[in-house]
Amino acid sequence: MIELNQVLFGPAGYPADARGNVERVFQILVEAGMTSLEYAAVHGLRTNEEKATLIGHLAQKNNISMSLHAAYYISIASKNPQIRENSRQRLIKALRFAPLMGVKRIVFHPGTHGGLSSEDAHITIRDSLRSIWEEAGHLGGGALLAPEIAGKISMFGSVEQIIRLCQEVEGCIPTIDWAHLYARSQGEINDKESYLKIISQFEKQLGDLFLDNMHFHISAITFTEKGEASHKPFGGEWGPDLYPLMEIVHEVGYKPTFICESPNPLQGALYAKYLLEELEKV
Ligand SMILES: [Zn+2]
Repeated sequence: MIELNQVLFGPAGYPADARGNVERVFQILVEAGMTSLEYAAVHGLRTNEEKATLIGHLAQKNNISMSLHAAYYISIASKNPQIRENSRQRLIKALRFAPLMGVKRIVFHPGTHGGLSSEDAHITIRDSLRSIWEEAGHLGGGALLAPEIAGKISMFGSVEQIIRLCQEVEGCIPTIDWAHLYARSQGEINDKESYLKIISQFEKQLGDLFLDNMHFHISAITFTEKGEASHKPFGGEWGPDLYPLMEIVHEVGYKPTFICESPNPLQGALYAKYLLEELEKV
């Protein structure tokens, strides 16, 4: 079985060429030299137990580490109590399915501030995640909840907010989305110095919890003054610059999982892997 203590690469979602055929998905990943897959449950976890078990079996057989991206419409601090409860249930369901699918990380966007102050939104989200973990953490077979840095400035998910959640809720690790960080910083976080500053902030405040569970999202992206606009392929005119991040990983010896969320995520993951392999040749 694949271990998480190495640099891993993979796409977000099934490669398009697999046309939804799950055997073909893993065949394509292996042929491309991929080692990771983030299962996209972004419109809800629509699989059943039998299908989930098959995915887990194929992942293990093909040495692919699995994460899962939970629904986009999760909004834990929503004004609407029904949406808050549905969000809880979605994460509980993801934890229940995680062991079947071999999923070790459940990525999600905490959502809006629900009209609350940052402090009150934090408390609401923290308490909800604590109750989710208490109820279902033990069902996940070691899977962790991985709240993600938000691309839109108005959404809950700044570096400070994500770090604090991970400090205060058992079972939480951060997902650093470098494209989102670039967008929400208006293009500022885009070089070695600024990347290192962010990584050391996580490292200083979360220690081994961060170092042992580095989960990165990568893509090129466009942004407005509100933050993220749209994900773009690498190699064009769009930032952020991936190369300095790969230099850091190479030089320090970090072991992140890179999940690519560009419009062609398999191609983007291959590009990222290529950059690191070139650095390792020197
Ligand atoms: Zn992301």
